Amino acid sequence: YAPLAEIDPEVQNIIDKETWRQFSGLELIASENLTSRATMEANGSILTNKYSEGLPNARYYGGNEYVDELELLCQKRALEAFHLDPAAWGVNVQPYSGSTANFAALTALLQPQDRLMGLGLPDGGHLTHGYYTAKKKMTASSIYFQSLPYSLDPATQFIDYKGLASQAKIFKPRLIICGASAYPRDWDYKTLRAIADEHGAFLMADIAHISGLVAAGEQSNPFEYCDVVTTTTHKTLRGPRAGLIFFNKNSAQAKDLQKRVNDAVFPACQGGPHNNTIAGIATALLQACQPTWKAYAKQVIANAKTLGEELVAKGYKLQTSGTENHLVLWDLRPLGLTGSKLEKLCDLVGITINKNAVSGDASAQVPGGIRLGTSALTSRDMLESDIKIVAEFLHRAVQLSALLQKEAGSKLLKDFVRVATVEEEGKVGAQQV
Ligand code: PLP
Repeated sequence: YAPLAEIDPEVQNIIDKETWRQFSGLELIASENLTSRATMEANGSILTNKYSEGLPNARYYGGNEYVDELELLCQKRALEAFHLDPAAWGVNVQPYSGSTANFAALTALLQPQDRLMGLGLPDGGHLTHGYYTAKKKMTASSIYFQSLPYSLDPATQFIDYKGLASQAKIFKPRLIICGASAYPRDWDYKTLRAIADEHGAFLMADIAHISGLVAAGEQSNPFEYCDVVTTTTHKTLRGPRAGLIFFNKNSAQAKDLQKRVNDAVFPACQGGPHNNTIAGIATALLQACQPTWKAYAKQVIANAKTLGEELVAKGYKLQTSGTENHLVLWDLRPLGLTGSKLEKLCDLVGITINKNAVSGDASAQVPGGIRLGTSALTSRDMLESDIKIVAEFLHRAVQLSALLQKEAGSKLLKDFVRVATVEEEGKVGAQQV
């Protein structure tokens, strides 16, 4: 029972360095957050030792009396956090991550080779929403199902709902997925429901990025219109890394979503739940149920708006010119700079950001933008006045990049050249999640 530092100083040392990195720098990755100490304690607990395949009070292993209590508590808090009536909605809290939650949801809703539509990856959608390329079906969601992406309106860069409606008339999907990894605007679930209903299709919202904001009532409510809602628990929700699947018990499309979703998670897609993670989710959800949560979510959005406004005031271009949620998409193409170069430079000065495709990118291999999110900095109690300083740092980073493109000899320039070479060879990843 000796502590980690004594048993394994190498791993302890890596954890110490990562702790220093997370708190000495500025974390602006939109899919990340800084979870609370309480959540981490629950997540790192003795509950990791227990097997509990099945559901509360219906397990395949003995000794689950406390784990049953925990999973029921987590379910109750999940419904409370999203203001859901247990008679109308249920939740499965066992998915190991957002990707597994999504694949389990597809397994619950579709037959193999059924048709689905999701927002295209280059327009901000997620891999698990049916992504494939001209060369390859890359993800299980396109390998086992037939998928067709919908896109943004090139003029406004908002979701092209009309285009989606006309594509759906031809494609006749069984499922429409809404939600994104890089979309700075709110969603029109009512319109999406109407399109889905024309074809007797299911409507699923993947609110992974915005779930903390939805819980606070600071985004439109997908639960009013969707059959299934999935989310990760570690982004705006500030929990441990995992996923949740909510199912509508009164869905007009199918009355048996509870059984379908539960069977899809286990045994179709997963084995034993990670009970330590479920404990971490429960603690994070307790925090999201507090009156202070609304203030946090409001501040996340206010900070993202400030960041966007400051960048625009400095002459930069943002996708859709602004934001309504926790992220901004910064289009670097007018500056002749790629996302990878700015990401690399910011890494060197302790600002963590990620390169991201922006609408209309010529090559998804060399994304022309940067995605910036404010959830983590807001968890460190930063306000608009702090964010203005962050925007100024980013401005300086861009100016430095421009200088480095001109000047030779420095180590920074060598790093730049290395990134540029990798880009030319097409080895840089297209999109962060
Ligand atoms: N769905 C969306 C919209 C995401 O942005 C992500 C990841 O960031 C996922 C699903 C996948 O989550 P995970 O990385 O936990 O599998």
